[in-house]
Amino acid sequence: MIMEKILFVSVPQWYPMNPYLAGAVLTAQVKNAGYEARSLDMNVRFFNDILTKENVLSSANTALMKLERVKHLAAEYGSRLNEFQSFPPEIRTGLLRLRDISAFFSKEGADSLVKEIAEKIEDAVAVHKDKERFYIPELLFKAKETVDDALRIISLAYAPTRILIDNYIADPAVDYSYENVKRQCYDSDINMFISYFEEHFDFDALKEYAVVGISVADLSQLVPAMTLGRLIKERTQVKVSFGGNYVYKIINDIKKQPEFFDLFCDYITVGDGETAAVSLAEFINGKIPVNEVYSLVWKNENGDIVTNETAPLLKMDELTVPDFSDYDFSLYFSPDTVIPVQFGKGCYWGKCAFCDFYTGQQKFDIKGVLHAADEVEELCKKYNVKHFAFVDECVPPLFYDRFATEIKKRGLKIHFYSFARFDKGFTREVLQNLHSAGAEYFSWGYEAESPRLLELMNKGIDPEIRSRILKDSYEIGMWNQCTFLLGYPTETPEELQATIDVIRNRELIHSCTPSNFALKKNAILGSEPESVGLSNITTKGDFHISFNYDSEGISMEEVKKNRLSFEQQFLVDTADTLWSLGFTDTDHMLLYIAHYGRDYVKDYRLPFKKKYNF
Ligand code: SF4
Repeated sequence: MIMEKILFVSVPQWYPMNPYLAGAVLTAQVKNAGYEARSLDMNVRFFNDILTKENVLSSANTALMKLERVKHLAAEYGSRLNEFQSFPPEIRTGLLRLRDISAFFSKEGADSLVKEIAEKIEDAVAVHKDKERFYIPELLFKAKETVDDALRIISLAYAPTRILIDNYIADPAVDYSYENVKRQCYDSDINMFISYFEEHFDFDALKEYAVVGISVADLSQLVPAMTLGRLIKERTQVKVSFGGNYVYKIINDIKKQPEFFDLFCDYITVGDGETAAVSLAEFINGKIPVNEVYSLVWKNENGDIVTNETAPLLKMDELTVPDFSDYDFSLYFSPDTVIPVQFGKGCYWGKCAFCDFYTGQQKFDIKGVLHAADEVEELCKKYNVKHFAFVDECVPPLFYDRFATEIKKRGLKIHFYSFARFDKGFTREVLQNLHSAGAEYFSWGYEAESPRLLELMNKGIDPEIRSRILKDSYEIGMWNQCTFLLGYPTETPEELQATIDVIRNRELIHSCTPSNFALKKNAILGSEPESVGLSNITTKGDFHISFNYDSEGISMEEVKKNRLSFEQQFLVDTADTLWSLGFTDTDHMLLYIAHYGRDYVKDYRLPFKKKYNF
């Protein structure tokens, strides 16, 4: 009997440093249930394919041609820029294109910069993958600059959209309403993924498959996923199924657009995908009808949007080991592979008022310690790896303590990092146990210095315990990475400054991720914004997961301005360190700390100042 297969595709933009977990997890689940599935990482292929000499040069030429086409807008609209928001969307987009391309090419030496970056880009990509050159900080950080510069030039051909190594910025001239997102999925002037997929995606190879599953974990993947979904539907008979956390967060708005299921996909699986993927495999192999596929949203023959029964609670201990066998590790921008592993679903705290992380995930459940250790051991052996990213948002300290003991008992020599909550259970002994089992750093949710704000956020952490944990972690030799939330409603300028002072004082905290407070639709605060003095709540577009708001404290605009100016100054001040901000460079940080040790990485000073494209 011929088995109908599923292909799980990961799309740009995602950080191309290491393999993507969702495809590996779903492929393994479907195969374990006796069906066929494969994974394809189009994200890493995308970055490899676009970061070439030829593409940098041709993108610069395309940008200059497009500049000619929008130059006339300066004369027509240049004197009325204060009315920008009242112009039609295509004029706003054109004006931003004019601004971005002119800004680049009006700088002295722009042409030579294009040639220089084109000459250097392929070697810069090679440095990322080279086991020796990657670990020479001067070479790695120059290579990172070259990649950033190349992506900037490549983006100019599609300005004002922009691809970065860690983000994709869709057309900033418009909001994320369905109509605006849809327009971008058809507009090859601003959507770089249309021509990319047309040239590089093997649509003929889809003949083997019944369904292509595309995961949308974040906003940066929305336009690329919808673009690929559209092209597959237009060019093949294969069904397209969307899944992933981001899609879940906007599912109610998608359901209001029945044509979405004609233009971009056939199905959407909502919530945790593991059970739904197996159920989908059963459907395409004729075992169950479509209305019995768990957690599926689809359009029936009457044009009604149907939401099937939600999948039963997933037991983490019933999951099999993720299957990375379709991933070509040599494509990733790291010389040593860092494998992502997820131990649990949901968050064991789950009460922070601003957080929507666990939306779409079931209530907290975690693999048993032996299961978790078995999984890590199998991944080590099967793929010959020793570096891991434990990607759970927070794992209870008791679990981690036992896990560390088990890892050491088995003699596994691994290095890992993880996210964590300042839970009092992270005693010095537990941290020591974890460090000796290979924990190089934790990314802690520090959020704000002010105890009043922590209380308002319902973080459930004690500032004294937080300080104790950071000190213990530092003293036993671990790197401390912290995330900060600036501009929380009602935050005073003094409170903001207190948090900034903590970030600036790099004694105990070695790298940080500051972000702006965002009022998220699916967070606790999203349903009670007035409880913290937020008013005039308006949408950023139905396909966006945050709201605009007015605040009794610092305004949204001020927060953005303050954070950007602080961050830029901080980056400039620390531009000779290896990592002061650790947004998405977390895998490279792990590799360096594992290779050189914490203090070497902390104290290393580059002989040059890193350059940033603000
Ligand atoms: S911020 Fe972290 S600890 Fe708080 S609810 Fe979200 S995931 Fe849990």
